[in-house]
Amino acid sequence: MIIISLLPIPLRIAALTQERNSLFDYPVERLAGIIRDIGFRCTSCAKCCTRTFNGHVFLLDRDVSVVKARDPAALEPAPAPEFCDQNGIFYVSGYALRTQDDEGGSCWFLENGRCRIYDHRFTICRIYPYMLHREADERGNIDWRQFSGLDQHGEYGAVISAGESLDLAREAKEYENAFLTQEIQFLECIQEYFTRYRLRHVQKVYDDRLRRFNRGDEIDVMVYYDGRLEKHRIRK
Ligand code: SF4
Repeated sequence: MIIISLLPIPLRIAALTQERNSLFDYPVERLAGIIRDIGFRCTSCAKCCTRTFNGHVFLLDRDVSVVKARDPAALEPAPAPEFCDQNGIFYVSGYALRTQDDEGGSCWFLENGRCRIYDHRFTICRIYPYMLHREADERGNIDWRQFSGLDQHGEYGAVISAGESLDLAREAKEYENAFLTQEIQFLECIQEYFTRYRLRHVQKVYDDRLRRFNRGDEIDVMVYYDGRLEKHRIRK
């Protein structure tokens, strides 16, 4: 598998489209079988709702719309922007959930170990720890990965019905499709925007600005949302 982030934009779009085609071909029954074999049950330990355990929670556009309506302060530009132009402005493919300033970096919506919007939680929160994407293992072999954090949270061996496992598998596959589609649309938007305003990605500017950001400087980040770019000025 190629490292997509190193390719020019048209080739990145082609590679992600190929990934999405592979996803379409993956039989949902196979994922449902894996879900039944693992038999994961959540024990409400809330580990997966922290930055320490999970890095960040990336939001699909439809989830961002919910947060904007409910509590816009819960949004922040997703980390690791994909591009930085010659003027030092960063570009990232979406928003992430903000975390709190506590030791583990609890999700904005986590309160006393419980999700305070549980009935309205986001797509990724509903399907986690299931997933369906290809990545390299510790030996560099590329294969499908269907579960996150095996034996690090929850309990195993529960009986999961065929119906429940199929529903979960369909939702996980649908999430990955929506994620890849959003990434492709972001790249198409950047391609058009950079051409229109004669911009280009400059890795040296990216590295310099990021270094300064990590030392406390403000940076401007354009966040892709709903087919357009929204500007934010952020400080670490
Ligand atoms: S929104 Fe709720 S379920 Fe999702 S990460 Fe935050 S606390 Fe956890």
